Amino acid sequence: MMDFASLVNPLQGSTSKFDFSTGNVYPAIGRPYGMNFWTPQTSESPWLYQYADHHFQGIRCTHQPSPWIGDYGHFVIMPVVGNLMTGARERASGFRHSEEVALPHHYQAHLRRYETTIEVTPTERGAAFRFHFPTTDEAAVLIEPFPGSTKISIDAEAGRVIGQTNANSDGVPENFACYFVAEFDAPVQAYGVFENGRVYEAQSALEGSRSGAFVRFSTQSGQPVTMQVATSFISVEQAQRNLQQELSGRSFEAILEESHQVWNEILGHIQIDTQDNDRRRTFYSALYRTLLFPRQWHEYAEGGRQVHFSPYDGKIHDGVLYTDNGFWDTYRTVYPLLSLLFPQRLSEILNGWINAYREGGWMPKWASPGYRDCMIGTHTDVIFADACVKDIPGVDWQLAYEAGLKNATQTGMKTGHFGRLGLAEYLQCGYVPEDRVLHGASRTLDFAYNDFCVGNIASHLGHEDVAADLFARAQNYRNVYDSSVGFMRGRLFDGSWESPFSATRWGGPFVEGSAWQHLFDVPHDIPGLIDLLGGKSAFVQRLDEMMATEPAYEIGSYPYEIHEMTEMAAVDFGQYAHSNQPVHHALYLYSYADAPWKTQQHVRRVLNELYTPDTLPGDEDNGEMSGWYVFSSLGFYPICPGKPVYTLGAPYFDEAIIKLPEERELRMIARDNSDDQPYIMQRLWRDRPLNQIEIQHNDLLEGGTMICSLGTPSTR
Ligand code: CA
Repeated sequence: MMDFASLVNPLQGSTSKFDFSTGNVYPAIGRPYGMNFWTPQTSESPWLYQYADHHFQGIRCTHQPSPWIGDYGHFVIMPVVGNLMTGARERASGFRHSEEVALPHHYQAHLRRYETTIEVTPTERGAAFRFHFPTTDEAAVLIEPFPGSTKISIDAEAGRVIGQTNANSDGVPENFACYFVAEFDAPVQAYGVFENGRVYEAQSALEGSRSGAFVRFSTQSGQPVTMQVATSFISVEQAQRNLQQELSGRSFEAILEESHQVWNEILGHIQIDTQDNDRRRTFYSALYRTLLFPRQWHEYAEGGRQVHFSPYDGKIHDGVLYTDNGFWDTYRTVYPLLSLLFPQRLSEILNGWINAYREGGWMPKWASPGYRDCMIGTHTDVIFADACVKDIPGVDWQLAYEAGLKNATQTGMKTGHFGRLGLAEYLQCGYVPEDRVLHGASRTLDFAYNDFCVGNIASHLGHEDVAADLFARAQNYRNVYDSSVGFMRGRLFDGSWESPFSATRWGGPFVEGSAWQHLFDVPHDIPGLIDLLGGKSAFVQRLDEMMATEPAYEIGSYPYEIHEMTEMAAVDFGQYAHSNQPVHHALYLYSYADAPWKTQQHVRRVLNELYTPDTLPGDEDNGEMSGWYVFSSLGFYPICPGKPVYTLGAPYFDEAIIKLPEERELRMIARDNSDDQPYIMQRLWRDRPLNQIEIQHNDLLEGGTMICSLGTPSTR
């Protein structure tokens, strides 16, 4: 089998900062959907690994889904030699990228200060570490949680460190903790605990706000020291059980080999053929990013029973749970990709969200690990509708419907942690008035789409009256379109428009964008939107205008220039701000107005110019930005999750073989493929000409070969 994992660059996107994102991600060394990721840390901030940084502070056990959401249950592991300095900056060592190995299943760095090499390979709930120390009696490994109440203890005889931390960034009940157990294979020569820079030699336990532990080894034998660590959100005993189940009695090499195989197997579901190694690396790096979130949160009790601590009610429940997901982003590409490649996994994930609903009473809007207030809309409505219309098995549609209907009809939390903020006003006015609730126009557009999605689930269950009502509400997008300016526009409670209007002003009625980036936010009624904008040719003109208008912006209601503005300004894609999600379907809209060649042209440009093996166009957002690349490069795109269709683009690679469920295979072939002529001349699907611009999910799922002959049409 080809070594797909070796093509992944986990460091991609790690040259990011608060005010400019090339992904805002860290190298996630973990298993697909793993409960923990292990990442080299160069900073204690949410920008935890920066490629340009020179100081290695340790390997962090992290659960952070985004720097804007923050980490929880996190702690750092660091080998040192000699005098103990416990602070992250004080203990940090210089390292070189030329001596670094960064793969999904294996990370390694050489710490020059300590002449020590650290290695880690992950399991789903733990990891194996290997430390290659110089020959010394002063080797030590530190384990340090982040601020938050902490308990830590050392059993020197057993070579074991046990700890717990409630470090978090919100979204947890009072009794939340991450428990961990670490076991060393070398005799512990000395040990101690530390807190706030004070070291307590030979003390075996400490309870405090950030108490850490260290163990010392003699390395005169010349052997590396290995450590196995596992975590739990349930208890120390469960952490020990996780360690037993996943790590005990196995060598570092054996676990590394298994991790490697797991990644090769899952990445091998799509095999691409291209002469361009950068594109190959970009593709597999993207595919890897789509396979990390949402993370598994359930664990396995005695006898293999799935069990989880609920961040929604603080209790232990049977069954699955997943977390760390921003649905405003992920519904667009991550879930549709799951529906095609891994419907069983998708089913399990959806059951996790249904358990969240059971335990907390509402679907989360942004989960990490429990309810968080971030972004707008209730987009679990979309992922359930998408799965429902695609017949994903094993989902309780009745409960999914109940949860969606609750989003559509009941007021959620005022702080916005769940439910739709502005729902009452939306029901009263048919739009969310900007003088009552911020981002009123964007909320209206999202709510209308969410209504369409819940309507689809209602219809599936035979509740046609409810569905009809929701489908009528799905037309509410029209209520924030102002034909006098030709844009969606903020509208006030009294029915008047917010004035003055500016198409380039960010914020206010729009979330993370201006009227330009939100003009096309109606994925569920494209013919209606085309009519609203004056018909097909006028519609194409508006899309052209978006691409051609200078990337001008005013910071509007934002207190400073947010990074999405800067990222739009940095590239030549006009007002098409690919660095953020609202426009992600927009290029495919050309195809609905008889200009599919413009879809093909612009999508090829985005693939070529905005993604590299080292950088992404903007925030990665739990696999969404990468999911766009995966779909678009394969030659089709889920334009409206909640409908079982994909819009056809043009394949980017000479050939792609997609392994589908039940041993089926989809082959996408591009003949005469080149950047100069990325246009479809002829499309054959199972040997017959295919002239539609959409293809049904079930049709793709049956497998077959699509041959696209590319070229330059004489008339376009
Ligand atoms: Ca984003």
